[in-house]
Amino acid sequence: MRIECIAIGTELLTTRRLDTNSVWLGERLADLGLAFHRKTAVGDSREDLAELFREALTRSDLILTTGGLGPTFDDFTKELFAELLGAELVEDAGCRADMEAFYAARNRVPPAANFKQALIPQGAEPLKNTVGTAPGVWWQNPAGHPGVRIVMMPGVPREMKRMWEDQVQPRLRPLAAQTVHTLRMVVAGVPESNLDERTRSLREQHGHLDWTILANLSQVELLARGTDPAALEAARGDFAPLLGADLACVGAGNLEDAVLDRLKSRGETLAVAESMSGGLLASRLTAIPGASAAFLGGATVYTAQAKRILLGLDPVQLKAHGTVSEATTQALAEAARTRLGATWALAITGHAGPTTDGDGAGSVGTVFISLAGPGTTLTKTHALVGDRVEIQVRSTALALDLLRR
Ligand code: ATP
Ligand code: MG
Repeated sequence: MRIECIAIGTELLTTRRLDTNSVWLGERLADLGLAFHRKTAVGDSREDLAELFREALTRSDLILTTGGLGPTFDDFTKELFAELLGAELVEDAGCRADMEAFYAARNRVPPAANFKQALIPQGAEPLKNTVGTAPGVWWQNPAGHPGVRIVMMPGVPREMKRMWEDQVQPRLRPLAAQTVHTLRMVVAGVPESNLDERTRSLREQHGHLDWTILANLSQVELLARGTDPAALEAARGDFAPLLGADLACVGAGNLEDAVLDRLKSRGETLAVAESMSGGLLASRLTAIPGASAAFLGGATVYTAQAKRILLGLDPVQLKAHGTVSEATTQALAEAARTRLGATWALAITGHAGPTTDGDGAGSVGTVFISLAGPGTTLTKTHALVGDRVEIQVRSTALALDLLRR
């Protein structure tokens, strides 16, 4: 099956917006053992769209589009396909009723032009939009193109994803080459190259699986895809001892999920004191629903003044050691732990760059991380590379990893 993706929107051709829809759709197709043979981003231009749609109809069996379903002057996805395929656009009573209900529930009266969205090409089926107003279209075997399927979805990523999951994916499942399962192992505290080398021979032993290593600033993911769930389970059993404590979690979670899960399972709590990371560590933890079962909170103590006032650091000691130092970071962690009555506290100080501000030790990239716990405080010094945001993100990952181990 030849599958083509068309992402529609002038903003996708500029630096303002990346076409993330097609990336997401590509991943979902891979879950079904399918792949694109082509994808295109195209502006909201009648001529360009008509040309592209015409070509797509000659070369693809399944055409997925996102965008251009709205009520405004620059939305013509349905209109152009209908024109090319010689079909009338007719109002779908169900779509009209859904739109009326959508606006009524929000105490709003829809502008008349919005009902344009309820028009569906004759012979096609509407796809409900349960989170917005523009319905999608499922059009199978349009006149003159037997075997072709055209799926039009909204551009808004949230609406597109929902429509795919509830209505498009179930319709495509019978076409799936096979069901592909994924084993996702999240590794922390290990560089990508090290993980690659360490796992090479075991990956070769499990060579019937399709392997990928994906790194970001916080963690490295080792992904295996395959059609046999037992083979993935066997790989999981073999990789767990090889990765040991470096394996943060298996499945959907990330490093912060692993940390919170571990704290919750032990009935322990965490507080933070953040200088250089400016609240990013707390933000990462609170992004996870239910974090309050283990994460108590903390303080963003960016200046010496905040360190004194919010966490009671001794001004004389602060002056003696500097705001960025092992001793100050340790004092911050201990103060946060005591003040919040937490089992553990993490503190981060450092120089994120581009220049070293504040006083204290080290150069750009120097980061101190302290973990205060029952009876002891452990402090680590790191020399990180990257720009300001990269150093901030990496430092929070190192802090989470220090606690996890
Ligand atoms: P709809 O079909 O839902 O009416 P539209 O293209 O008419 O979509 P726009 O207002 O152009 O609606 O886009 C809605 C939002 O979705 C914008 O923020 C836009 O940048 C975003 N968007 C559209 N297409 C994509 C895409 N391929 N990837 C990521 N974001 C997208
Ligand atoms: Mg658009």
